[in-house]
Amino acid sequence: MTRPSNKAGKVYLVGAGPGDPDLITLRGRELLESADRVVYDALVDPYLLEYVRPEAEKLFAGKRGVDPEARQRAIDRLLVEGARQGLVVVRLKGGDPFVFGRGGEEAEVLAREGVEFEIVPGVSSMIAGPAYAGIPLTHRAHASSVFIATGHEDPERPSGRLRWEVLARSADTLLFMMSIRNLGAILSKLQEHGRDASTPAALIERATWPRQRTVVGTLSTLEEKARLERISPPALLVVGDVVSVRESTAWFERRPLFGRRVLITRARHQAAPLRRLLREAGAEVVEFPTIEIHPPSSWGPADKAIGELEAYDWVLFTSANGVDAFFDRLWKKGRDLRALSQARLGAIGPATARRLEEHGLRPDVIPGEFRAEGVLEALHDQVRGARILLARAREAREVLPRQLREVEGAQVDVIEVYRSELPQVDTSELRRELEQSRIDVVTFTSSSSVKNLARLLNVKSLSELLVACEVGCIGPITSDTARAHGLSPSIEPEQYTIPALAMAVIDRFKSSPSGTRPPR
Ligand code: SAH
Repeated sequence: MTRPSNKAGKVYLVGAGPGDPDLITLRGRELLESADRVVYDALVDPYLLEYVRPEAEKLFAGKRGVDPEARQRAIDRLLVEGARQGLVVVRLKGGDPFVFGRGGEEAEVLAREGVEFEIVPGVSSMIAGPAYAGIPLTHRAHASSVFIATGHEDPERPSGRLRWEVLARSADTLLFMMSIRNLGAILSKLQEHGRDASTPAALIERATWPRQRTVVGTLSTLEEKARLERISPPALLVVGDVVSVRESTAWFERRPLFGRRVLITRARHQAAPLRRLLREAGAEVVEFPTIEIHPPSSWGPADKAIGELEAYDWVLFTSANGVDAFFDRLWKKGRDLRALSQARLGAIGPATARRLEEHGLRPDVIPGEFRAEGVLEALHDQVRGARILLARAREAREVLPRQLREVEGAQVDVIEVYRSELPQVDTSELRRELEQSRIDVVTFTSSSSVKNLARLLNVKSLSELLVACEVGCIGPITSDTARAHGLSPSIEPEQYTIPALAMAVIDRFKSSPSGTRPPR
């Protein structure tokens, strides 16, 4: 995206944080939102890139198999040339930009080329890794100093810059990054230079990611343990008495859904709240949207109703998507909320109600039971002979308008304000995961998500592929649809809401022993 400009561009070396996308700084996020070009590394979580504007360039700088020096020169060029074109360039680097990772060298190039730049610190893995493993780097009873080094240098090479005889006794806590390849040599060197063989030591692999693992041993046992557990980079080595504190303070791996992989089938733009709740409970979330929201096939009937909204006694909404689509259209047609000042408003459930509130409107009725039958009960006697507008998706259950007409004698106009469609997606990866039983829970938040998953996977019965996993449904209608597709839902909350569904998934796994469960 070359935005010709007479103003000079600028390069921001931004720390992305250690892995968990929520650990980026506010400044970092703000810059991602305003960037014209983002150059990112392999250790950066793809969710962070969702902050980037769709028109901005997103360039991956971590290609493997390329000579590291050539790759670095290519990165430097992208930064310098971008700034010269007047772009806001964000160089997004794992952890903190000035902790092992050539951030210093990149800044030197920018300074030499006369390009304006700014350094935005990030939460380094050296801080976050021990925190997420429950290992305090300092502790009044165990450690009052910390030493941080790269484990990249082969300790057996005399040309190395690390002075092991000094380093081994330099601080109470020693922390090594990039240390897996030389692990054995590092552990021996420390013992050779005076650290006791029984000193506690830990490896923290993929810290802050859902599949974080921590292996604890001593200077004499850790290498063997790491080999058995097949620990691989990225990982941190922590040495010192502080490691023993973890026994009581490990928290990350003890969360109820830790090590569990949960599939979300919701539309991508709606997945965030469920994703957040499940992740917070420790789950690794796999997203596979089975629904895409599109405009209706024709706006004709909706536009006509919007033009004469004052004629309706009630306007009913059956989904948050419906609310958004309706108000978007209302605005586009040159009208605003005042068009609804006469009408009473109904929402099928709390999520729909909340969305109405976000638009500045209080629903007059929210049923106790969040489906068509509940709405009917709540409206009973209030809508006799009334004129009702029902704004919803094309493919919705007929029971609501039919009953309103037949039982309440109401005059009901149904308008289509959106259409949900099957996404065009490649299903091979999901099939593989299901076949290998790598998904622990599949969640459905609507009947269409069940039907669409069966269509996308091209199976008669979902039981063919969803063999080893638990099935969670938001409510009884969705559960019925799941059963009709060969499944036996084992998770269904009493309230048909996203937070209740997340809680039900958590409850299901709470009782199983936590913390010790190996991630798949
Ligand atoms: N600038 C980064 C470090 C880059 S060097 C930072 O501040 O974190 C890469 C090394 O960082 C890896 O070899 C590993 O030792 C460490 N590292 C980075 N992310 C990590 C993670 N999520 N878990 C454990 N170690 C990590």
